[in-house]
Amino acid sequence: KATLSTFLKRNRIKLKGTDVPLPMASWAELESRFGVAPWLRTNLDKWGWGVPTAIQKGAMPVLLANRDLLAGAPTGSGKTLAFLLPLLHHLRAPAKEGFRAVIVSPTRELAQQIHDQMRRLCEGRNFRICVLTKPADAGAMNADPSKRKKFDMLITTPLRLVHAVEKEEVDLGNVRHLVLDEADRLMEDGFLEQTDAILAACSHPELRKALFSATLPAGVEEMAKTFMVDECRVIVGTKDS
Ligand code: ADP
Ligand code: MG
Repeated sequence: KATLSTFLKRNRIKLKGTDVPLPMASWAELESRFGVAPWLRTNLDKWGWGVPTAIQKGAMPVLLANRDLLAGAPTGSGKTLAFLLPLLHHLRAPAKEGFRAVIVSPTRELAQQIHDQMRRLCEGRNFRICVLTKPADAGAMNADPSKRKKFDMLITTPLRLVHAVEKEEVDLGNVRHLVLDEADRLMEDGFLEQTDAILAACSHPELRKALFSATLPAGVEEMAKTFMVDECRVIVGTKDS
């Protein structure tokens, strides 16, 4: 017990919730504790992600255990990998079942950065990732609806996603994992109404939700409360907090 509290303090990690999975100390636990496939560890090392950051230590075990998560950690602290790796673990392999994971990001540029990290992390695997941020992006899918099924993951911006749902360009009925990234920035553009539309479209009963944010203002907390179920909170402080 003393060891755990020392570990949390040293990493500036705060945990809240019921039966929150304990943080991991190193990547070795991915395989030993969670049965994560060795190719993921290989790619982490290959791209220079040799040691987990604090938010990765705290958030990955929660997501690997398939719990809802509200995560807060400063900009540049490695939040992207913290949700990408558990997603790939749960998806296991390309399946041609349509979108099983959706990542919502506030801007086109951030969506592209997530896509870049995802391509590195799943290098050598044939996962199909759709980046939907511009009006033209759905063109390929519209031209041939049978192509929709080939995708495993969707990375998108909120307005573009809501539009695509309204136009029935995408089917989110098979989505099991929804990530709302940079939630504090998503809030700035009246995201609350868009979240409702996105959540309604993600109709699978086993949908798990994760919300990542640099800060956790009241609006983000309230939004989380409306749709999270028995969620875990993992907050990583800055140097001063
Ligand atoms: P955030 O979303 O928290 O602002 P990012 O996920 O964009 O931060 O990560 C910031 C940078 O840190 C990226 O360039 C990423 O490749 C790098 N990074 C992430 N995790 C690690 C790690 N475990 N070791 C080294 N670098 C990392
Ligand atoms: Mg980020």
